Amino acid sequence: MIIGAGLAGCEAAWAAAQRDISVKLYEMRPLKMTAAHRTDGLAELVCSNSLGSALPDKAPGLLRAEMQMLDSLLMKIADECRVPAGSALAVDRSLFSIKVNEAIESHPRIELIRKEITEIPRDQVVIVASGPLTSDALAADLSKLIGEEHLYFFDALAPIIEGDSIDQKIAFAGSRYNRGVTEKGDYLNCPFTREEYEAFVSALLTAETIPLKPFEEAIRSGVKAGKGLFFEGCLPIEILAARGMDALAFGPLRPIGLIDPRTGRRPWAVLQLRLEDNFASAYNMVGFQTNLRYPEQDRVFRLIPGLAEASFLRYGQMHRNSYINAPAQLNQFLQLKSHPNVFIAGQLSGIEGYMGNIASGLMSGMNAASYLKREPYLQLPEETMITSLIRSITSADPESFQPIKANMGILPALKEPVKQKTDRAHKLSQRSLIALKTFLLKNSAKMDPAEQ
Ligand SMILES: Cc1cc2nc3c(=O)[nH]c(=O)nc-3n(C[C@H](O)[C@H](O)[C@H](O)COP(=O)(O)OP(=O)(O)OC[C@H]3O[C@@H](n4cnc5c(N)ncnc54)[C@H](O)[C@@H]3O)c2cc1C
Repeated sequence: MIIGAGLAGCEAAWAAAQRDISVKLYEMRPLKMTAAHRTDGLAELVCSNSLGSALPDKAPGLLRAEMQMLDSLLMKIADECRVPAGSALAVDRSLFSIKVNEAIESHPRIELIRKEITEIPRDQVVIVASGPLTSDALAADLSKLIGEEHLYFFDALAPIIEGDSIDQKIAFAGSRYNRGVTEKGDYLNCPFTREEYEAFVSALLTAETIPLKPFEEAIRSGVKAGKGLFFEGCLPIEILAARGMDALAFGPLRPIGLIDPRTGRRPWAVLQLRLEDNFASAYNMVGFQTNLRYPEQDRVFRLIPGLAEASFLRYGQMHRNSYINAPAQLNQFLQLKSHPNVFIAGQLSGIEGYMGNIASGLMSGMNAASYLKREPYLQLPEETMITSLIRSITSADPESFQPIKANMGILPALKEPVKQKTDRAHKLSQRSLIALKTFLLKNSAKMDPAEQ
């Protein structure tokens, strides 16, 4: 049984059915719509029609190449529906959805049922792929299954910046009062003079924001959102800034305990950038959850000293997003540790972005098929982006877990470090594809999908 015929659910259904499993795929639309979907089509792309870069040296492109090798349905259809968009894989979204519908509905082992599922059967093998806008009744049942404290309803995401794009002639390493600094330097600090700070705050206050949907207004006002979760500490940076010119300098940009080694003095204000991975390839802008439009984030956040050339791996966001505490709840096969018959895929598993969600659907479908057939799971090589992404969500710190998007920094480091970023990305990508190809050759008998 698969709940949700979105990106992850359709890919999962196909992967399982191709492995000889009979699938019942449940989709609640159009009987019950979500706040973001507009059609009754399967695998509807709710926002952008771009699946990210198609280049294998970029994270979405590497996921694409890996999924192509694993016979992904959605990758095949995406290629058939591709529209010109430079190096990005953009698709005609209507055609994409139509073709997914056709493939799913014509598969002899998939039955598509239009119905809202309100309870997760405890005695069946189930893939829950109901997405960021999981219906309330199902979310309530999932809470019962895993514990209310492990299901989140909103996202307040701060942007993530590529490490190499930060100007380290301006940003300095060090943590407040030099507490707990590791060799890698846990934080980079962007120091503001008073003039720079005031110019930044003024730009922030006049920047354009994304209009919030009614359910998202809850975040803005900081009221209780969903069950058991408060967002007092997660207000958007622009809302905090509106409280007065000094609000940020006394809040997330407070300079206390930080001395700029180049001046020997405490800056007027400081943005702290926190390491996101072990390779210093990505940094989180501490306290910078925001509702600014993406181009505005480019414009305004680049006014911060040290970030003039910043390249954003993820923009800040505030939106309704149901996801579980994956490191606490999921094993590496995307099964609930407490209920191994239940697999979680897609955004609900804490993966961000279309491509990552499709990849998790593919893996959950393959794994559920192995589970049902009592066969060992196929463990893809560690070097692949798919494995790295799942490793990232399942081995993160459960205390501070936030959804993760595929990026090159989550791949295991190269044995021989490569300084140049593009060369490094190329080597990482080649290593992953060769490892996967070798793996597939060795395991061809196990991989062979059943004849239709
Ligand atoms: C508003 C918004 C915009 C986004 N924009 C982008 C973007 O531009 N680029 C990007 O990479 N990512 C984006 N994302 C993030 C994410 O990649 C997408 O949401 C993606 O569609 C998630 O895939 P999924 O399969 O997990 O969920 P979905 O594609 O949403 O599929 C889940 C399906 O489950 C169904 N469902 C829900 N509850 C039930 C139930 N109880 N019973 C039966 N069916 C149910 C839903 O109707 C839906 O069809 C966005 C997310 C949101 C919320």
